[in-house]
Amino acid sequence: MSLLITEECINCGACLPECPNEAIFETRSEAEEKGNNVGEGQGEGDTVYVISYDRCTECVGHFDEPQCDAVCPIDDCCIADPDVPETTESLLEKAAKLNPDKEIDPAKVWAGVRN
Ligand code: SF4
Repeated sequence: MSLLITEECINCGACLPECPNEAIFETRSEAEEKGNNVGEGQGEGDTVYVISYDRCTECVGHFDEPQCDAVCPIDDCCIADPDVPETTESLLEKAAKLNPDKEIDPAKVWAGVRN
């Protein structure tokens, strides 16, 4: 399940360098211009940062918890997107495909959205 960024975002940029999958973009337009899909209704008007569900793995394979949420100073800004259900296995596959030169650790799993 991808995470999404809500309208609570203050565009501080703290999350951007922390994402291991380069899934975060400053605007919806930027994400789409680079060929990355963003969930319907998210980041409309390019007013807040967005997460592409093509690239987000909940940080599975890299970290024990989503790094964007961990560094975000705002509550309820980086949250799970219920419209993008994915299994742990598929998230690990996605992480490996996106990062062929990085070691993907199957023990690094955030169980947050599946419990
Ligand atoms: Fe990137 Fe992890 Fe946030 Fe997904 S949960 S956008 S992979 S930092």
